[in-house]
Amino acid sequence: MSFVSHLECSKCGNKLEADRRWNLCSFCGKPLIVLYDLKKVRKAVKREDIAGRAPNLWRYKELLPLQNSKNILSFDEGFTPLLHAQSLGEVLDFDNLYIKDESQNPTGSFKDRGMSVAVSRAREFGIQELVVPSAGNAAVSMSAYAALGGLKAFVYMPKDVPKTFVVECIARGAQVKLVEGYITHCGQQAAHDVAQYGRFDMSTLKEPYRIEGKKTMGFELAEQLGWNLPDVVIYPTGGGTGLIGMWKAFEELKNLGWIKSKLPRMVSVQAKGCAPIVTAFNEGKDTATPWRDAETIADGLRVPAGIGDFLILRTLKESKGTAIAVTDDAMMEAIMQIGRTEGIFCCPEGAATLVAFKHLRQQDWIRESETVVLFNTASGLKYAHLWAKDLRF
Ligand SMILES: *Cc1c(COP(=O)(O)O)cnc(C)c1O
Repeated sequence: MSFVSHLECSKCGNKLEADRRWNLCSFCGKPLIVLYDLKKVRKAVKREDIAGRAPNLWRYKELLPLQNSKNILSFDEGFTPLLHAQSLGEVLDFDNLYIKDESQNPTGSFKDRGMSVAVSRAREFGIQELVVPSAGNAAVSMSAYAALGGLKAFVYMPKDVPKTFVVECIARGAQVKLVEGYITHCGQQAAHDVAQYGRFDMSTLKEPYRIEGKKTMGFELAEQLGWNLPDVVIYPTGGGTGLIGMWKAFEELKNLGWIKSKLPRMVSVQAKGCAPIVTAFNEGKDTATPWRDAETIADGLRVPAGIGDFLILRTLKESKGTAIAVTDDAMMEAIMQIGRTEGIFCCPEGAATLVAFKHLRQQDWIRESETVVLFNTASGLKYAHLWAKDLRF
């Protein structure tokens, strides 16, 4: 079933065979990218064939890495709605505003996309124990797919992670360890597990397949807009898998001849209290400096340093995009505005994209006639604790 040709290092171009398990590049230690034989894909499937398939991300199976579909672990993740935000658009005097609502994924966040593909692939390799450092959603998601496939999940989260995340992992049979510090410290603990017990490292971009799952957001944007792409995609960026993945998806679609339109300008949104990518972008750098004392309510954005920093910055540059930091207060206000107008209960990360939209529209960086997609990456339900104080419930 798989049309994967090989893996390639995103930095040094080192080529590796696809039928072995890999984490990072064996030469330079940078992330590996999965490449496909697109000529064969073009012969095997037409974009019209996709329309009749089940509404989950496996509808793009020819552009996913599984060898044998028996290994697929799925809760029907993906193919989330692309909602035309007409009422919100009216308030903002902007016609073509869309929200890709990732809160409708099985565990309530878009981490399910990456984990469905990566845990399935791990199972295909006969791997039995998975470890991941996480700000919350990745841990929950990995726990779910590991349970479904009968694999063991070991998850590391910062000590101050909201309790719902901890409970969701434990209830799915995972072993949870809470770590003093940030997700980067959790990553060090995970690396220790890998060295000590031979568990498989599922960290963002430290294995090649989560990005393959996340790129399906890009396929869906194209398909849901009638094989056209929006002018601008605004994405809340932590480790950057989603952004890098979507850009990869657009390239694949272009090379397949499935899309003719210009590729979107990609926008990274971060929190003012943790904005390494925004800072690097503004300084014109190719890599980011680790952020000190990261602080934001948006757990998915509390990523002081990521191994994919240079890939995010490369994507922003190639797409003629930009990066912008917003405050936590503005995120909380935006949650309310989206809820009032559209009935969607966003996570702060998702709300941050609206704040960024308003800034960019004000500067006329986004023009009136353009089509813009905001990403709501998870459900607001995960963040009920943020409201408890103010609402006194
Ligand atoms: C993980 C996460 C992000 C950041 O996603 P990346 O693709 O790693 O940049 C944004 N929002 C939420 C809710 C997340 O869980």
